[in-house]
Amino acid sequence: MISPDAELLLEITDLHAQVENQPILKGVNLRIRAGEIHAIMGRNGSGKSTLSKILAGHPAYTVTDGSIIYRGNDLTQLSPEERARAGIFLGFQYPIEIPGVSNLEFLRVATNARRLGKGEEELDTFDFEDLVQEKIKIVQMDPTFLERSVNEGFSGGEKKRNEILQMALLEPVLSILDETDSGLDIDALRIVAKGVNQLATADSAIVLITHYQRLLEIITPDYVHVMAGGRILRTGGNLLALELEKIGYDWVDKELAALETFQT
Ligand code: ADP
Ligand code: MG
Repeated sequence: MISPDAELLLEITDLHAQVENQPILKGVNLRIRAGEIHAIMGRNGSGKSTLSKILAGHPAYTVTDGSIIYRGNDLTQLSPEERARAGIFLGFQYPIEIPGVSNLEFLRVATNARRLGKGEEELDTFDFEDLVQEKIKIVQMDPTFLERSVNEGFSGGEKKRNEILQMALLEPVLSILDETDSGLDIDALRIVAKGVNQLATADSAIVLITHYQRLLEIITPDYVHVMAGGRILRTGGNLLALELEKIGYDWVDKELAALETFQT
């Protein structure tokens, strides 16, 4: 929900970033206030995952210019762990498997780190068990998944539900969900999307990175951004997503070519 007086959580200004000495982001501007849901769309290779990894502090990705201000502070000065404790959550496009680490224990450690970040007390195993049993209902996940190693042998849909369970436990301030809808059948998509809707609050914001309109039929974004060539080329409301479904992304090439001619 858009409210002009809500706290400005994230302010990205003219952000340039590279990976392996390859410039990927070429001037991203984005402002996100509390209570808002933003969708970032765009073709493969446009820089969407790069932006999310930069926000999470992935060590392989470097900011070369511009700024990222999170709740009034320079985000780039924080380690990935500090960012997580401060309420930034990244749901990965490809969630990693961690053999040998129990999902329950992993979730407990992560939740407690975040609770300390919020100035709350850590939960012991018993209290955490109660909390996780409550939150697991949001994603309709079978509790046996807690006893298994993190994501090991989980199907694509189960991994994504596990990501949303993590989000439910961490109560992030800024959640970035990178293609949480990819590889999901329609039932899993509904569960995940409804879970995200339940987790949206007036004090937090959600960024959905997605290729498809179908997720946005369940989660209504306040803003839709189209990314191309490492920039946000266009921003609109929810209707922009519907329009993109119809017209595709061919116009992007023309606009991008014009922009690049102009800049060189
Ligand atoms: P999207 O998520 O929009 O599909 P990405 O951010 O994953 O796009 O990728 C943007 C561009 O950056 C692509 O051309 C991709 O090949 C390149 N890229 C991403 N990560 C790396 C990497 N680790 N090494 C080299 N190039 C990369
Ligand atoms: Mg991606």
